[in-house]
Amino acid sequence: DLGAAHFLALQAGLVLLYPPAKTLSRLHILMQKCLAATTKVFEMMEREPAIKDAADAVELDGVQGGIAFEKVSFAYGKRADAVTDVDFSIEQGKSYALVGQSGAGKSTLFSLLLRFYEPREGRVTVNGIDVRKIKQHSLRDHIGVVNQDIFLFHDSIYENIRYGRLDATREEIENAARLAHAHDFITEQDKGYDTKVGDKGCQLSGGQQQRISIARAILRDAPILLLDEATSALDSEAEKHIQAALEELSKGKTTIAIAHRLSTILNADQIVVMDKGRVCEVGTHAKLMETSDIYRRLYIM
Ligand code: ADP
Repeated sequence: DLGAAHFLALQAGLVLLYPPAKTLSRLHILMQKCLAATTKVFEMMEREPAIKDAADAVELDGVQGGIAFEKVSFAYGKRADAVTDVDFSIEQGKSYALVGQSGAGKSTLFSLLLRFYEPREGRVTVNGIDVRKIKQHSLRDHIGVVNQDIFLFHDSIYENIRYGRLDATREEIENAARLAHAHDFITEQDKGYDTKVGDKGCQLSGGQQQRISIARAILRDAPILLLDEATSALDSEAEKHIQAALEELSKGKTTIAIAHRLSTILNADQIVVMDKGRVCEVGTHAKLMETSDIYRRLYIM
């Protein structure tokens, strides 16, 4: 069993794993089905942070004021710009879908919002506050990340969901699982919630693992949700459950999705079209179909 300090470290670690996981998938290294991520998390926690809190950094208190990218440009090291002059704002409580070809800069925007990197020019704000002036733990406490690489631990399904919030009761954990469309398949397992993930070669399907990680995020209940959708298609039944689970999860939250599923794009309040590091257009599906060649092309694809 994990103590409270380890638990908090794990929680932060799950968010910290976003950029390295992205890098791994970029290198086309197949992630193991049930990744035992614990060691990696602790290694990361012990590293000296490259980005430190400013002396006058503040705590966030909710996200009533939304998010803004204000003329943001950024390059990885000495490479060409990954994003250039990105300027758009995100209203609190609304959902946004980022669309664009691979390499367009979508996940870089996530990393900048999470402040894994800092813009060369411009700024990223939450509630109108530059993220460089927000305490990192507070910023990341307000942001939930659900991505295609699922981090389940070699522990019971129950504990895997509880990683979302340390003080959750059994009832809250089961409720989160129900909302994530996971309760039924969990209770069908040999030992129900006490079944260990990864035992006997990990009998959970990819879609089921994803729903466990969504249950964890529902329990965590961070007001900003970053969703990095899988490019690989699941069967339509799995897809339907995940879609419903994600709808539950995003209720009342400010959601930004790197969207590959058509349903996510069509359900978004606003679609942000990116190309070669720039935001070309922001609008609804109906509007973009009329005004954006790039969007029409992506849509047909
Ligand atoms: P998308 O998410 O739309 O596929 P990315 O934000 O991942 O796009 O990539 C934008 C650009 O930045 C691409 O040219 C990509 O090769 C580059 N890039 C992304 N991550 C890294 C990294 N960690 N190091 C160096 N270059 C990167």
